[in-house]
Amino acid sequence: MEVGLDTLVALAKRRGFIFPGSELYGGLAGTWDYGPLGALLKHNIVRLWWQYCVWEREDMVALDSAILMNPRVWEASGHVETFTDPLVECEKCKGRFRADKLDDPTRCPECGGALGEPRAFHLMIEAKVGVLDDGSGKVFLRPETAQGIFVNFKNIVDTMHPKLPFGVAQVGRAFRNEISPRDFLFRAREFEQMEIEYFVRPDGWEAAFEVWLRTVRSFLERVGIDMERVVEEEIPPQERAHYSSRTVDFNFRYPFGLDELLGLAYRGDYDLRRHSEYSGVDLRYREPGVEPFFPHVIEPSFGLDRLVLAVLLSAYDEDEVGEGKRVVLRLKPEVAPYRVAVFPLLRNKPQLVQKAHEVFRELRAHHPSVVFDDNGNIGKRYRRQDEIGTPWCVTVDFQSLDDGTVTVRNRDTAEQDRVPIDELPEAVGLVGS
Ligand code: ATP
Repeated sequence: MEVGLDTLVALAKRRGFIFPGSELYGGLAGTWDYGPLGALLKHNIVRLWWQYCVWEREDMVALDSAILMNPRVWEASGHVETFTDPLVECEKCKGRFRADKLDDPTRCPECGGALGEPRAFHLMIEAKVGVLDDGSGKVFLRPETAQGIFVNFKNIVDTMHPKLPFGVAQVGRAFRNEISPRDFLFRAREFEQMEIEYFVRPDGWEAAFEVWLRTVRSFLERVGIDMERVVEEEIPPQERAHYSSRTVDFNFRYPFGLDELLGLAYRGDYDLRRHSEYSGVDLRYREPGVEPFFPHVIEPSFGLDRLVLAVLLSAYDEDEVGEGKRVVLRLKPEVAPYRVAVFPLLRNKPQLVQKAHEVFRELRAHHPSVVFDDNGNIGKRYRRQDEIGTPWCVTVDFQSLDDGTVTVRNRDTAEQDRVPIDELPEAVGLVGS
């Protein structure tokens, strides 16, 4: 079902997925903190991404570059000159908005007052390094992870000797001084990206682009995005960056409308050429028998926080089972914070608690994603585990002490089975995962 954003934000807070940033001090707009369960969910998405985009392939390498970079990087990339959004200000209430995101860029969406002329607002966040106060230490917090890959291109080629086509993948924080951070994780000022620069021969980009379209689709399915809510949009030439001959945005139907989830862009040889020019270092690729040349680039750029949001929206459901009405997150087991919860039927019966701990430890030996839960009664525990998306609940009861079986409850159907303890790891999908 399609849930409203307020309901999801409340669930995310109540259950320890996502908290407003610096809440204790009244918050800081555009920042969010991932709580114990959100951190696990996010980690699982990142892990699947590494697995799918790097470990299961032979043409990819990893990178983890610094957030702070020499400011010349951002001159070469074009960010200093052009990384701006059109800012408009309301003459009446002084509200500030991004003109290209308004239905009517002349009227204030909040008070109806007249909006002034748009002016270019720079999105990079500045910081200062070093001890001097003369401006020489001015740096930017990176607004994307991609440039870290381009400036390390030569280091990677010289050390790893990859053959074309090959890709470099990196996950990390990015910062943008968004004019109006909004819609929960969707538009934040600090967020995380998972980016790939895939280097190809100049005449090979079209075919590689098609393959990446398919790869992105199957990754989205694998993390549990509802593909019926995904709309691919071919960006028309006038809206693409000047160096790109093809860009496809993967849009998602959020509660606030259809908007970007991630982008797939062909960037030609723009970045390597510019960094060669600005640094004076030849970044052309060399192989025997041909003139050195700049490889061309295909860039799948995933926003991790938007993925978390889309995964939660896709998983949210409400239904009625034997135990009554409930909220359930139908997360894929691979991304759920916990795959299995283990309970003693009653917390005040030491034999049950001891046996439940034994079962818990045995399952943990197969996979770390197992939680022990003895809070409240069984009904409350099921409700809590449904709401955080745990696919299986295992209950140790008096019969377990007699015959070595436990009750296994399936999150999606709420059906219960009796399973011998030694068959548990297989029954709850912990074997071979
Ligand atoms: P938008 O048009 O929504 O501002 P963009 O086209 O500028 O996004 P890109 O520069 O292509 O975004 O960044 C790549 C990805 O990084 C986006 O698809 C998105 O998933 C993520 N991203 C960009 N800006 C933000 C933000 N402010 N908050 C969260 N994620 C973001």
